[in-house]
Amino acid sequence: MSGEAGLAEARRALPDVVLTDLQMRPVGGLELCRRLHEIDHDLPVIVITGASDLRSALESFRAGAQDYLVKPLQYDTVVRSVEHAIARRDAKREQGELYRTLNERLVLSSIREQEHAEAEARQRAQLNTLLGNLDEGVVIADSSGRVLMANAAARTILGFRDEDLGTIAALNAVEVHDLEGRPLAHAERPIMRALRGEHFVDQEVLCIRPSGERRRVVSTGACVNADRGDVALAIVVFRDVTELKRLEQQRDEYVSLITHDLRSPLSAILLSVGGIKRSMEQMGMPVRPAERVERNVARMTGMLDELTEATSLESHGVALQRLPLDLQKLVASVVDGMGDAAVRRITIDADDTVPYVVLGDRSRLERVVGNLLANALKYSAEEAPVNARLSRTGNEVELDVIDRGIGISPDDAKMLFHRYYRASTASDRASGLGLGLYIARLIVEAQGGRIDVSSVLGQGSTFRLFLPSHSPPKPSG
Ligand code: ADP
Repeated sequence: MSGEAGLAEARRALPDVVLTDLQMRPVGGLELCRRLHEIDHDLPVIVITGASDLRSALESFRAGAQDYLVKPLQYDTVVRSVEHAIARRDAKREQGELYRTLNERLVLSSIREQEHAEAEARQRAQLNTLLGNLDEGVVIADSSGRVLMANAAARTILGFRDEDLGTIAALNAVEVHDLEGRPLAHAERPIMRALRGEHFVDQEVLCIRPSGERRRVVSTGACVNADRGDVALAIVVFRDVTELKRLEQQRDEYVSLITHDLRSPLSAILLSVGGIKRSMEQMGMPVRPAERVERNVARMTGMLDELTEATSLESHGVALQRLPLDLQKLVASVVDGMGDAAVRRITIDADDTVPYVVLGDRSRLERVVGNLLANALKYSAEEAPVNARLSRTGNEVELDVIDRGIGISPDDAKMLFHRYYRASTASDRASGLGLGLYIARLIVEAQGGRIDVSSVLGQGSTFRLFLPSHSPPKPSG
């Protein structure tokens, strides 16, 4: 077969191996070998020749021949050469395949890595923008003492310039005092607490900026633990409440001014109405209008008392007496003091063999219980019964004040113990400031207790008061 015919056949049959002579015309064996490799780079070509000179052997290999066999040939030699050539080609193809797969995987994983890095960078940028726009200061530090992140608000609140907050040592250079103005112990600083692994909320301190300006700052701290459980990162979020506190103080001052100024004319009205009432009685005239004025003045005085009490509890905290007192007796005496109508409507359920002794402040608790009972009467129908039920569970004494009145919606129930909150159902029934339950919560919480409500709108409410019970010391010996 000529070289050209061999080429055409190779194109058609796609052989596994080609054996060729060298001396052919017009296309010789070497040319054939080159052109075959243009069709299939891996096609093994074995040159068979009568010329055993080194030069033509070298040229054959340079042209891409796989083997070079010199005639006369043994059958076995040819078979071995063919097998060997095919095996090498297969191995080369496999290797190529493997290489391609590996390469593909590498490319894929590098694309994924890049995507991952891009997503991370995007998230970091979003987080930084978010933290940068927060009004709260955020500081993240690690256990080696480096500040990894401090947002713009953190620097502003603490009085740092942009570049100056790289370490905890720099952060600790800010003077921090407690609310009484005493320097705060190093270990009690918010960042040090978070680094110790404490989780805390609303630690209020005074920060003194390098300029000498004092700011009231409220901090919340948390930490992230490493695998071994040590603290890896400490996070402190804080806000500047200086302005808020100033406004609160201003409000309290107005309130005490107003309540003080209103009290005197009210006492004067009460005094005059008392006189008018007596004169009307002497003249045999009906005194009910005068009594109505008296009742309204008493209500207004009650509101002023609540305002004063709420303001003083907020500004000075709740200073409490803590003496053992029997809650059952306290409830009975409060009901007694509420007048005949109340006594008729309120029943007290208690087990006389159980001591309902709590450690508490008598006059404050009387106000709390009085408020709950007055509300129960106020927010139910004229003659509807009200039940005060005492029970003791574990270390707590519980007082339930149950009415069958107008009830409270779930949304209102969540807010009732907040300052000035009144349910929408309240205003058309009875006047009030929405401070009674707020004051009750402050007092009860200061005594280590709690207060809550469950209610069904239109059916009634149960206010539950829990106080830690007091057990008398066991007699020794
Ligand atoms: P005030 O009664 O002076 O408005 P309180 O703080 O004592 O203030 O009560 C807050 C609000 O809670 C009331 O305005 C009323 O809407 C609601 N509330 C309190 N007690 C009851 C009750 N027993 N039943 C229905 N609503 C009540």
